[in-house]
Amino acid sequence: MVKVALAGNPNSGKTTLFNSLTGSTAHVGNWPGVTVDKREGKYKKLDEPLNIVDLPGIYSLSPYTPEEVVSRNYILDEKPDVVINVVDATNLERNLYLTTQLLEIDVPIVVALNMSDIVRKNGDEIDLNKLSEKLRVPVVEISALKNENLHELMKEAYRLSKTKREGYTVINNKEIGHLINDVKIAFKGKGVENPLFHAIKLVENDELETSMHPDLLTMVSEFKETFNDDTFGNDFEALIADARYTNISKNYFTTYKASKNNQGEHKLTKSDKIDKVLTHRIWALPVFAFIMFLVFHFTFSSDLLFLHRWFGVNINGEVAINFFTGMGYEGEPLEGIPSLGVWLQSWMNWATGSLTNAVSGAMPPDTWYTSFVVDGLLGGFSAVMSFIPQIMLLFLWMAILEDSGYMARIAFILDRAFRKFGLSGRAFIPMLSGFGCSVPAIMSARTIEDNRERNRVIRLITCFSCGAKLPMWTVLANMAVMWGFSGDLFVFTIYAGGIAAAIIFAIFMKLCSKDQYVSPFIMELPAYHIPQFRNVMARLWDRLKHYLVKAATIILAATILIWFLMSFNWNLSLGMVDINNSILADLGRGLSYFYYPLGWSQGPEGYKYTVCTLTGLIAKELVGTNMELLGIVTPLSMSALYAFAAYNLFTIPCFAAVGAAFGEQKRKEFWLTILWWFAMSYGVSLLINAVGLTYEAALWGGILLTFAIVALIVAAAIIVARRQKRANRVQLEA
Ligand code: GDP
Ligand code: MG
Repeated sequence: MVKVALAGNPNSGKTTLFNSLTGSTAHVGNWPGVTVDKREGKYKKLDEPLNIVDLPGIYSLSPYTPEEVVSRNYILDEKPDVVINVVDATNLERNLYLTTQLLEIDVPIVVALNMSDIVRKNGDEIDLNKLSEKLRVPVVEISALKNENLHELMKEAYRLSKTKREGYTVINNKEIGHLINDVKIAFKGKGVENPLFHAIKLVENDELETSMHPDLLTMVSEFKETFNDDTFGNDFEALIADARYTNISKNYFTTYKASKNNQGEHKLTKSDKIDKVLTHRIWALPVFAFIMFLVFHFTFSSDLLFLHRWFGVNINGEVAINFFTGMGYEGEPLEGIPSLGVWLQSWMNWATGSLTNAVSGAMPPDTWYTSFVVDGLLGGFSAVMSFIPQIMLLFLWMAILEDSGYMARIAFILDRAFRKFGLSGRAFIPMLSGFGCSVPAIMSARTIEDNRERNRVIRLITCFSCGAKLPMWTVLANMAVMWGFSGDLFVFTIYAGGIAAAIIFAIFMKLCSKDQYVSPFIMELPAYHIPQFRNVMARLWDRLKHYLVKAATIILAATILIWFLMSFNWNLSLGMVDINNSILADLGRGLSYFYYPLGWSQGPEGYKYTVCTLTGLIAKELVGTNMELLGIVTPLSMSALYAFAAYNLFTIPCFAAVGAAFGEQKRKEFWLTILWWFAMSYGVSLLINAVGLTYEAALWGGILLTFAIVALIVAAAIIVARRQKRANRVQLEA
């Protein structure tokens, strides 16, 4: 079958084009080994079906991001019959940078000038014939969004797929041109395909290329020693990039004719106007905070618009059961009106609850297999399902914000601050989502291109207390109250402590990593526009599928295991046993020794805390609910309370989140993540217990902790600042 690849900058409209072309035949997966989306589908309106692949969006063919490597390797190794280079015509100059690199590969290319509807609306014009003549490949003007000219594009692509094309380069610097030619001939001699492309990459000192062809590298190095450009010295990468840009603005960009009223003074587009508010120097962050508040409020709040808190609005549960809440709140008056997320979740719980009731009613009572089906299988199934409404809603809001072009701007604004901690602006959304649920949080880390940064962010997610940890905080807060501590303050210190810890850990990770480099955050700011229903839905479905497959299998398996341990004693007696006599309780007793240094697993009731911690692996709600189920009589001391809270905050999240991490990371990285979660929680818990024991003033444990964390932040900041100063000095001296 004819293979067609769509290549282009991010936001150039590849996916929109892809969706229009392939319709229902599309198929989304991952590229093997990396978490980059792979979309494949068929175009069927020609003599032959064309197999279309939507390559990840890239700005160049250098190997700095997984996207670049994937796209480059696809074109070089999978040898598509034709490449459609999707170009955002409203950003011609920048988009053509990639085009100049694609042209160097020996593959037929057609340039699809996308977004031509906007160009037209602006009254601008592009001289297609001239552009095509200069690029030496066909150019077709299209609008992927409005379905304009797509069939013409595909006809052209189909025609080209039957032809061959030899690559050429726009780099016309004389001396480098000679070098490139020599290297190309050497490559040809070795029988390497795409000799021109490889030659240029080698001259650019491209990582992949230099490691693949060390023999030819000497040729380049020798040349370099004799070479010295006035501006760039012998930094060939910069030299070549400059040559490309110079060429683009001299030869190709002149084909762009701005309309009369666009010439001269710069006219403010609608986007610019919106940006004046949304990316305002002072207002940007407050506005963003407000939008985020709304997002979370409408997803997780059970008291919408604080109607109950501020105006005392209650809903009578009897009346409201069916309309607002499903079964979850039956009979009890509801405090306030639930948000959409909570409302949908209660319906979901009602549905799974009804199913569970129906099944348990139909099966013989008090047998191990009824318990297996009801408590084990259906319990796990219900847990998986209950997250879906809120996950989907959160993703829906995010997809809308993303597709409208807003998120790109926020990531940009936050980038500078995050950089100090070795992260980029992209880390923000996953972290924020972490307060809701770790599963979507970990999954949204996908948008982070840099592998190391993505891993760091995934590891930091547990610092942001997820919604399911709230029941636990409630129980612990009640214990804190018994010690005369304010419950509100207790919960607040946990949230704040988590954030502070995330900052410290991020700095720590940065200091520990071999190189301090944070990949540059180059990102185009797309024009604002109304989100496309189809794009948003495709994104949602993609994520949902991911969650269902990956998280559901692991959570189900784990639930069944814990059910088994919880329901049986060592004799495996068929009757149900009291959880206090179960295998799990005995395991808890055994494991308690392991947690002994942390201060909360000691004493006759200590094992209960261990058991609760273990069941937290299924779902964090279980920590709180099991603390009540197990009937804990004597509360922990204040410092042990904090130690226990910290352990459960930072530790390995529920299996659903573990499953999400498993889906997003490579095998080795995943195990390191598990290890990190464990070490982080154990370490912090130990520290708190130590501080508590040292000062014996249990009541002050929390305050001491806060002080310790602040002191650590300051210390870490000083270290970072010093290191960077030194690094800068070294760089200046060199
Ligand atoms: P990708 O990153 O290259 O896959 O780009 P997308 O397909 O996600 O498109 C980026 C944005 O540009 C989306 O919001 C599209 O709706 C929008 N878009 C794509 N093609 C066109 C077009 O021809 N005209 C207009 N006005 N917008 C478009
Ligand atoms: Mg895309």
